[in-house]
Amino acid sequence: MDDTWKLKVWGVRGSAPVPEPDYAGYGGNTSCFSVERGDELVVLDAGSGLVALGDELVRRRMRRVDILISHLHLDHVMGLFIFPLLHDATAQIHLYGRPGLGQALNGLVGPPFWPVGLAQCRAAVQVHEVRADRPFTLADGGAPGLTIAALEGNHPDGCYYYRLDWDGRSLVYALDCELEEDMAARMARFAKGADVLVWDSGFFPGELVRGWGHSTWEEGLAVGRAAQAGQMLMTHYGRKHSDLSVREQERLACRTDSRIQFAREGMVIGL
Ligand SMILES: [Zn+2]
Ligand SMILES: [Zn+2]
Repeated sequence: MDDTWKLKVWGVRGSAPVPEPDYAGYGGNTSCFSVERGDELVVLDAGSGLVALGDELVRRRMRRVDILISHLHLDHVMGLFIFPLLHDATAQIHLYGRPGLGQALNGLVGPPFWPVGLAQCRAAVQVHEVRADRPFTLADGGAPGLTIAALEGNHPDGCYYYRLDWDGRSLVYALDCELEEDMAARMARFAKGADVLVWDSGFFPGELVRGWGHSTWEEGLAVGRAAQAGQMLMTHYGRKHSDLSVREQERLACRTDSRIQFAREGMVIGL
């Protein structure tokens, strides 16, 4: 078995999917990433990118999936509605997130918003509400050696950022993060020494609107430098950000610091 972990990108958009051709280069799905080693797999957020990931899990006959949900805004959970594994009676789906996750998802994924509710689907779905101040491992001994911590974020309606640690390596996933008050300092501590920091570049420099709960790649770079992160992966582009504008920002950012990359769907990063 290949014993290196890989980060795969399945969805790079914030707010809503963008199917038009102007966005096809970086991809049009909303937030979803997987971190995997062989058959061990952890998913970060369940945006519309989760659907294609689900198709791949079906192809690979993988029956277990653990999904860390940052928050309930639709761009981070809309992939659950048509997640292929939900209708497989042999599948085990573990969802992790903030207190209240179970009640909220049971209300959202089901009538009148959707014909089949989470409780009626054939897969075994378990919701695990985790605390920000208590690191945890996957349920039922999943991915041994992997530890996960959550940080309460600064975003409307609340949000978790996640840190995954294994074999002396680490990845931090921090989408939908506004660096107000002490958030920058808390994030720098949380992401200390991370090999990869996945960051909310929902606004590009000059566009930032305070109070909307988002950030820019310049702010992500400052946090990454303070945390001494190895690489910074920008994502969560807005509807304004066609391929042309993302490419332009990517060039600018990479000239500023070569540790920055901009996420595109299908990208794989060795960890
Ligand atoms: Zn978002
Ligand atoms: Zn959000």
